[in-house]
Amino acid sequence: MSDKHIVIIGGGFTGTALAIHLARLGHAGLNVTVIEPRPQLAQGVAYSTDDPAHRINVPASRMQLAGDEEGVFDRWFRASSDFNADPDALWSDGNLYPQRGQFGRWVNERFNQAKQHTAVKLTHLRDRAVALHNGVVTTASGGEYRADEVVLAISHPPPEVPRILNMLRGHASLIADPWQRDALASVNIDDRVAIIGSGLTMSDMVASLHRQGHRGNITVFSRHGLLPRNNLSGIYENRTLDYCQPQQASARGWLRRVRREVKQAAAENLPWQLVLDDIRRHGQQIWQSLSLKEQRRFLRHLRPWWDVHRYRIAPQVHAVLHQLQASGQLSVLAARLLAAAATDKGIQLTLQPRGSIPEERVVDKVIVTTGPAHGALLNSDALLRQLAQEGVIQADPLALGIHVNALSQTLTAQGKANPHIYVAGPAARARFGELMGLPQVAEHAEAVARQLLGVTSSASCAQAPGAAP
Ligand SMILES: Cc1cc2nc3c(=O)[nH]c(=O)nc-3n(C[C@H](O)[C@H](O)[C@H](O)COP(=O)(O)OP(=O)(O)OC[C@H]3O[C@@H](n4cnc5c(N)ncnc54)[C@H](O)[C@@H]3O)c2cc1C
Repeated sequence: MSDKHIVIIGGGFTGTALAIHLARLGHAGLNVTVIEPRPQLAQGVAYSTDDPAHRINVPASRMQLAGDEEGVFDRWFRASSDFNADPDALWSDGNLYPQRGQFGRWVNERFNQAKQHTAVKLTHLRDRAVALHNGVVTTASGGEYRADEVVLAISHPPPEVPRILNMLRGHASLIADPWQRDALASVNIDDRVAIIGSGLTMSDMVASLHRQGHRGNITVFSRHGLLPRNNLSGIYENRTLDYCQPQQASARGWLRRVRREVKQAAAENLPWQLVLDDIRRHGQQIWQSLSLKEQRRFLRHLRPWWDVHRYRIAPQVHAVLHQLQASGQLSVLAARLLAAAATDKGIQLTLQPRGSIPEERVVDKVIVTTGPAHGALLNSDALLRQLAQEGVIQADPLALGIHVNALSQTLTAQGKANPHIYVAGPAARARFGELMGLPQVAEHAEAVARQLLGVTSSASCAQAPGAAP
């Protein structure tokens, strides 16, 4: 192979996994630079937390780089000294749920191994990319790096502050970015806390408050008031749906099918999680069989339900939520925020619970946990903003990230594929569908690595879901 330089922008899990796959698949002469401002790779938003209450949300045995030996992270953690230091990581069913930072450390270690033991030259450049013109990446410190190919691996912007809370911006009572280090440092033990959003980040926040010995009331609210479901306890064989059955390629058609499958599983004394897990494994094919209209329909009507069944929480975190709800310290409402005002007694929130009359709550702290503002991704970063303003890239039509083709190449404002700029990871999920959890992100990183190197995949194609009748 002649000399080639691939620059990966963003060294969270995706960018680091991609670099490792390039090192495994590439040859001497290939240079891979990961531009990432954090001191350690593979942290990103998900694995940079050092709060011991934040755990991975699937068993460690399922967290791996694509193509790895199964259970490799689980074994690494059990053999590490941190295993003894964190007895709570081991759940009663034998599954391990380590603190999230441990996973970042493991992936970073793999990057360092690949750096030492492969012919490909891997570099972590501690900097931030701020511009890309004619194949030259400019960084915040003024460096310029010529690249044959650039891969954007930037996925999670901070949550967007709801419009009604805009007037509280900068107020000491508003915690707008829950992912900032020490985000909860200003919360006093008896503070009344309101949390907007009831998904995984909310679960992290409640687990952190509990660990801090919080005693004040916590009110969680979101439009549907749905909480992430618990993980499956115990060991089960995968249950595979029959994808050859005729299947209507619509959001409603799949909803009916899933309900039927869950019923059938229950009749066999099997948990619903097995059905959802198989749908998730085939999520990319199902998604791509839907028209844009049906994808929009899914996002509008079914996404809140899909999210809580698909993104589950570690049993340790589930137990905390359950305990605090049972004691009355934590209440969860399906409600809309109508108004917010800073008063001398605290922040006064006016909530409109579903099917009921508006009610007032006065709290000391408001935490925004509405999840990454993916619709605003292109505006959240100087480099992405420049590329979008110049029409080099564009947002996808579902406002989930960046518009790409089936090869993960970016599309210009005119819809033309750019064979020199790729997207890896969740920012490409409008095209591919299920591309958020580790297994799918790792597989996508491997697929992009193959694409970049022109290496064909040896993996056999999964069974395609049945076509619409
Ligand atoms: C809070 C949270 C918890 C999760 N927990 C789990 C879990 O337990 N299990 C699971 O399977 N999945 C989990 N996920 C999902 C999954 O692991 C993530 O989607 C995945 O880690 C995506 O990471 P990423 O590298 O694509 O993006 P990001 O985490 O967004 O990382 C992007 C990186 O790019 C860098 N960057 C940004 N802009 C620039 C720039 N201009 N120049 C250079 N660098 C830049 C940032 O510093 C960052 O490190 C979680 C997701 C989140 C958000």
